[in-house]
Amino acid sequence: MTFRPALRPGAPLLRRDQASLQIGTSPGVVIADRPGLMALLRLADGTRDVERLQSYARANIPELDCEVAPLMHQLRALGVVFDSSHWSAPHRRGLDAEARHTDLAGGELARLTQRPLFRVAFHTDAATEPIAAAARTVLGSAGIRDLDSNDPDLLVIASCGEPARTVFERPQLAALDHLVVMIDEDRVRIGPLVRPGRTPCMSCYDLHRADWDHAWGALLPQLGRHTGILTPAALDAVTVHGAALEIAIEVLAHCDGGPTRTIGQFLAVGPGHSERSGWPLAFHHGCACDLLSAA
Ligand SMILES: [Zn+2]
Repeated sequence: MTFRPALRPGAPLLRRDQASLQIGTSPGVVIADRPGLMALLRLADGTRDVERLQSYARANIPELDCEVAPLMHQLRALGVVFDSSHWSAPHRRGLDAEARHTDLAGGELARLTQRPLFRVAFHTDAATEPIAAAARTVLGSAGIRDLDSNDPDLLVIASCGEPARTVFERPQLAALDHLVVMIDEDRVRIGPLVRPGRTPCMSCYDLHRADWDHAWGALLPQLGRHTGILTPAALDAVTVHGAALEIAIEVLAHCDGGPTRTIGQFLAVGPGHSERSGWPLAFHHGCACDLLSAA
C-alpha cells in the first residue's frame, strides 16, 4: 500500500515566522520553511499518494526545490504528516475516526478489525433501556454494527435492582460472554463481565455474599419480582450517560481484546456523574463455574 500523506489529524497548519511553519498548537511541531512547503502541505489531505503529490507539485508548485517522497517520509518521522492509507482499509470501513485516534496515540490499528464483525445484544427493562440506548449510540459511532444480534458475541444484561438469577442460566450454559449491569438506587453497577468458566460469575458473587449475609439465600428467590411496584431509580441524566459510556468502553475493550475493568470486578458509576468506585469479585470455591475451564 502506498504512502498517502495527510497533515497531522486535527492540527492546523500555521506560519510561525518568516523562516518556520508550525503544525498544531499543543504545543505544535515547528519545522523549517522552504520554498513551496506551505503549498505542498496544504495538498497533504490524505487523498493523494506520494507519487501523485510529486507530479502535482512539479506542475503547480515550481518553487519547490526538493523531492516530495523523502521530504514526506522525513515529515512523517517528525509527526507532521501521517499515512492516511492506514485509516481507510476495506476491512475497517466506517472506522476512520477510530483509526486516526488510534494512530495518533501510537496504538495498534489491527485491534480495530473486529469491530464491524462483533455482535452485541442488550436485555433490558424499562428503567435500563435509556442507558442501553445511549450505550448503543456510542458503540455505533465506534464501528459496532450489530447491536441487536440474535447470536451475540456479548450479551449485556441490564436491570433495575438485582435481577432474578434465572437470567444468567442460559448464557452460563451456552458459554455466552455476558456483562451484568444493575441500577442500584442512585448509581449504576457495571460488572462482572463473565466469560463462563474463565472468569468469576454471578453465582460466585451470591456465594460470597451468603458467606457474610446469612439472609441472602432467603432474599435471592425474591429478586426480580419487584418490577411492577418499584419506585423509579434516582439517576440523573448525566449519570445515565456516564454509565452508558462506561458500558460502551467495556464492550469495546472486550471486542478489541484489550484489558477490561469488569472481568472479576465491579465498577460503579454515581451517585455524582464523575464518581467511580470499583471492587473485586473472586471465584468462590463452592461455585461450579470454574469446573467448566478445568474440564
Ligand atoms: Zn462462579
